[in-house]
Amino acid sequence: MTTMESLIGLVNRIQRACTMLGDYGGGDNNAFSSLWEALPSVAVVGGQSSGKSSVLESIVGRDFLPRGSGIVTRRPLVLQLHKTEDGSQEYAEFLHLVRRKFTDFSLVRKEIQDETDRITGKTKQISPVPIHLSIYSPNVVNLTLIDLPGLTKVAVEGQPESIVQDIESMVRTYVEKPNCIILAISPANQDIATSDAIKLAREVDPTGDQTFGVLTKLDLMDKGTNALDVLEGRSYRLQRPWVGIVNRSQADINKNVDMIVARRKEREYFATSPDYGHLASKMGSEYLAKLLSKHLESVIRARIPSITSLINKSIDELESEMDHLGQPIAVDAGAQLYTILEMCRAFDQIFKEHLEGGRPGGDRIYGVFDNQLPAALRKLPFDRHLSPHNVRKVVSEADGYQPHLIAPEQGYRRLIDGALNYFRGPAEASVDAVHFVLKELVRKSIGETQELRRFPTLQAEIAAASYEALERFREDGRKTVVRLVDMESSYLTVDFFRRLPQEVEKGGNPAASTTDRYAEGHFRRIGSNVSSYVGMVSETLKITIPKAVVFCQVREAKQSLLNHFYIQIGKKEGKQLSLLLDEDPALMERRQQCAKRLELYKAARDEIDSVSWAR
Ligand code: GDP
Ligand code: MG
Repeated sequence: MTTMESLIGLVNRIQRACTMLGDYGGGDNNAFSSLWEALPSVAVVGGQSSGKSSVLESIVGRDFLPRGSGIVTRRPLVLQLHKTEDGSQEYAEFLHLVRRKFTDFSLVRKEIQDETDRITGKTKQISPVPIHLSIYSPNVVNLTLIDLPGLTKVAVEGQPESIVQDIESMVRTYVEKPNCIILAISPANQDIATSDAIKLAREVDPTGDQTFGVLTKLDLMDKGTNALDVLEGRSYRLQRPWVGIVNRSQADINKNVDMIVARRKEREYFATSPDYGHLASKMGSEYLAKLLSKHLESVIRARIPSITSLINKSIDELESEMDHLGQPIAVDAGAQLYTILEMCRAFDQIFKEHLEGGRPGGDRIYGVFDNQLPAALRKLPFDRHLSPHNVRKVVSEADGYQPHLIAPEQGYRRLIDGALNYFRGPAEASVDAVHFVLKELVRKSIGETQELRRFPTLQAEIAAASYEALERFREDGRKTVVRLVDMESSYLTVDFFRRLPQEVEKGGNPAASTTDRYAEGHFRRIGSNVSSYVGMVSETLKITIPKAVVFCQVREAKQSLLNHFYIQIGKKEGKQLSLLLDEDPALMERRQQCAKRLELYKAARDEIDSVSWAR
């Protein structure tokens, strides 16, 4: 293959790959669709039954398009011709049926009809949704051709009034693309001045630089007339030479005259024609195909720099997207385990930063100790518990039938026990409050672990394992603080009791104290003694509860949040590990697409490099 052939082939392959990837032009304005649009294609334009589909067929050298009178082509057909090595078998492939190779071209025609009907129904309606067809053959030139519904002037039975306008707009969307080469088909048996094809081409391409004029049905001209004025550019001047064509007539089609015969007949027609004999070498569908291919070459040549830069831009975009999406997951269990552990470590690191500073949140634990706990302690209802009224009640109950003599020891114990019991509440509340802070930090840290984003399942597993661990730490914390409280009530400080009688004596008039043993003041004193003891305990707990909480919960969370999890996953088999690494399917799909595109564009860049160097 010459370099040029391979270059056009490359463009074809890029376009095809773009279509496969759904990057077919239009729609969202990304680099991929702009690449499609940067690559030239050839669209066939003309009035209904002017012979568009027939011209395409003869360029391809195969019968595969539905043809006939009336509106036959009702959806755009994007036809990519791929030249294959000599001797290889010809086949066709539809984008909507990628796995099926058509070697029988009459089935291709049927599929085009069926696929058209699938969208439009068996009506005379049209649809702008293109059908994509690729033909692989040693007998074609590399080209992308687009067959379009023919321009009409009036709506016929079964068509909406808007059809004339609809068809024209659809055709325009194709031919208005800056890289579209227009194959303007006019039948020779009509006056060129009435040609819809020329009319539209002149509007879209005023300089005529992109337009190829094709004159069909030369054989159907009135006897005694010829099309030399047109073919020699005297009737209507185009930048490029006119090409005359003789396609098969409807009768030929009905008789299944094959393409080889048809081409031979066409060659003979020109060679023996008294009118066109001198132009024979520049007429006919084979010549047209070569002309187009050659033109395409020069267009592509000129576009190489912009195509290259577009490809480079796409590669940059894709690479940065790939970075964002992360590398694909390893397949072997060892590597998977490593990946999982790496992510756990990353998460753990972030979690620690939250606790130790660097990231916010750890300060809320300090808040629990500094505000919440002291406030809760202050709010304990000791006033009520140690009111003279309650003290009298508790002391009397403890005394039983025998009132106490000097100090009501049993009464004191009960009062203290009762008061200390109140500390359980704030103690447990501190444990819970810190637990919830830790839980929140786990949640936050998971969200902030970039690496984990892709793996919702692993996220959930790490969260569950962390919550489970935190729950265990909470249980431990709760037991420990309750124990601290219990310890305070199980043994009352001796010093305190030693001081008691003295305080009673110091407390004022000793005589009064004996006489008013059961008076209000006596109980008030007892209450205030207990209260000062409880105050002492409260001060102690204010210090020891945070210590216990940090020891049991915060420190453990920092050191061994995922320890259990590590042990668990260490035991997992490859299959279970890959389940953990099961990514969001949308993401996987996106990465796959990205990788495919990247591969394609890189191959394209290499090929373009080699072709442009080989010049
Ligand atoms: P389209 O509607 O523009 O795609 O036109 P078709 O390719 O379907 O052709 C319409 C009809 O004109 C068919 O019956 C063809 O056989 C016939 N036809 C097309 N070109 C020629 C030609 O050069 N000579 C003759 N005799 N018939 C032709
Ligand atoms: Mg047609």
